[in-house]
Amino acid sequence: MLVFIFLVRKVITFLKNDYNISMSKINVPYAHASSIFEIDVSFYKKENVKTLLVDLDNTLDSYRTKTPSKRVFDLKERLSKEGIEMVIVSNNTGTRVTTYAEALGVRFISSIRKPFAKKLLAKAKEYNIDLSTSMMIGDQTVTDIPCGNRAGIKTVLTDKIVKEDQPTTHFNRLFDRPIRRKLMRKNLLRDWRSL
Ligand SMILES: [Mg+2]
Repeated sequence: MLVFIFLVRKVITFLKNDYNISMSKINVPYAHASSIFEIDVSFYKKENVKTLLVDLDNTLDSYRTKTPSKRVFDLKERLSKEGIEMVIVSNNTGTRVTTYAEALGVRFISSIRKPFAKKLLAKAKEYNIDLSTSMMIGDQTVTDIPCGNRAGIKTVLTDKIVKEDQPTTHFNRLFDRPIRRKLMRKNLLRDWRSL
């Protein structure tokens, strides 16, 4: 319920003020990519990323996909060759995230409660994740991006990789779509290649 009120207030503010930076910068990503799979590892190297905090549903795979697809395994390999650890950070529940992440062989934080950063900050400490060399990547302007911004780490916004979202995400999309439009209009979606 708190999350609901928070999101509604956030979006109303965002839409009312024609991009008021002090109120809305929380939704602005550092960079944008069509998909996580198009990003060259050299980008992360340049940004001094040691830990890539990756959203799961519609960033890596569809929420219906129980085990990682081949391109996700390949991505993990490419990253680890360069000394970058992939850690899955998902709002989804323990079982879904555990099954997927264990099959992939990566560490994970489930039920992380994005857009808030409290659990991320606590778990990062527990898992010895240095947030100063971390980057957050995900497909939602209302959860992934604010969480990363609040934790003080750089964020990358991606587009959905499949059309279907799980039912709870349909609600988020009501806010995600206008925010994306606004970010685009204001030229605030910087392509990762331009950085
Ligand atoms: Mg997602």
